[in-house]
Amino acid sequence: MNYKTIDDLGNLQGKVAMLRADLNVPMSEDFKVTNTARIDRTVPTIKELMSKGAKVVVISHFGRPEGKGDMKNSLQHIVGDLQRALGKKVVFVDDCIGEKVSAAVAKMSNDEVLLLENLRFYDEEKKGNEDFARELVKPADVYVSDAFSTAHRAHASMVAAVKERPSAMGRLMEEEVKALEGALSNPTRPLIAIVGGSKVSTKLDLLNNLVKKVDKLVISGGMAHTFMKASGIDAVNETNSLVQMDMIDTAKEIMSVAKANNCEIVLPDDVVVAKEFAVNAEHKTVGVNEIPTDGGHLLDVGEKTIASINAKLDECKTLVWNGPLGVFEMKPFDNATNKVAQHAAELTSAGKLMSVAGGGDTVSALENAGVANKFSYISTAGGAFLEWMEGKELPGVAVLKK
Ligand code: AMP
Repeated sequence: MNYKTIDDLGNLQGKVAMLRADLNVPMSEDFKVTNTARIDRTVPTIKELMSKGAKVVVISHFGRPEGKGDMKNSLQHIVGDLQRALGKKVVFVDDCIGEKVSAAVAKMSNDEVLLLENLRFYDEEKKGNEDFARELVKPADVYVSDAFSTAHRAHASMVAAVKERPSAMGRLMEEEVKALEGALSNPTRPLIAIVGGSKVSTKLDLLNNLVKKVDKLVISGGMAHTFMKASGIDAVNETNSLVQMDMIDTAKEIMSVAKANNCEIVLPDDVVVAKEFAVNAEHKTVGVNEIPTDGGHLLDVGEKTIASINAKLDECKTLVWNGPLGVFEMKPFDNATNKVAQHAAELTSAGKLMSVAGGGDTVSALENAGVANKFSYISTAGGAFLEWMEGKELPGVAVLKK
């Protein structure tokens, strides 16, 4: 890898390692963590730093605080869960800079971890302020950045702070970057991308980048409707689908760039038409040339399309996936997403496919399909994953180049 990792930090015995984690976990109204994935995935880096003799000071953002003292967004609420996940005492400091922090660091033992208060209690964090970054890293000898999910933002703790100390990416960020480089920058080909979700307009950068990089691009979900219309399927209209009429020319342009780059675009062959937009709505599957124009909603793709996508997967070595193939939140319109996800998971288990997925609803869609832990890699990052797929350089990753 072209990036600095913990292995490049040298001897950590007796050093203070500041770890920029992403502990922005979902929380209930009564301050209970509802999904500990982000905590759990930070633990290996903390443990490794501790096992190397470092004193670990963890920092993170949390929620969208309205200034300092917004206790609803205090990281204090996660202390119990972090402690449980680590099996170590976690000492909380109700600030992230200043005297209190220095005093707590001076007092800490090797067997405990310090957790500092929400970085976003200071506006300077989001502004990428360098003075704030210098204050932040004062107690640290080395700086480890592990918050890949925030790496698309040039916030103070993601960029300026990294430059102030000998620095490295943590193991979680390393894993994310390796997976994404393996899937997009340096893939084993043929490379296939599946892009679903609702609208073309929100995924333009993504599609424009993918058609230049991948060998096959499956377009499904609501966004496929615009491409179907653009390829001459007139029955697709604004009452039965999510077609975006102002995006037809853009869709045509994307298809022509794909052609010029030898990227095969795979559109639906058949669709599931439901009487209403509702769970268990009455529905039928029709070929794309038999779509009724007198009502109904196109909520999923049909079995022919599923078989065709699965056959394309069989031909490929690497898959990147973003966005569900249908309205997966409403049964039975999760059918295509589930079947394709299960097929990708089987190919992955058989060692035939390297599969990477992430962004927005994709993780819940794959969880719903029961295969989230069977993909080669599921990204914890939403926005950062998408920006990577869009081909953009992430400031929080770029700053860690060797
Ligand atoms: P996105 O955030 O753009 O990835 O979109 C995810 C959303 O797209 C999910 O909530 C799906 O329900 C929705 N979606 C997928 N396929 C369709 C469809 N055929 N019609 C309407 N919404 C869809």
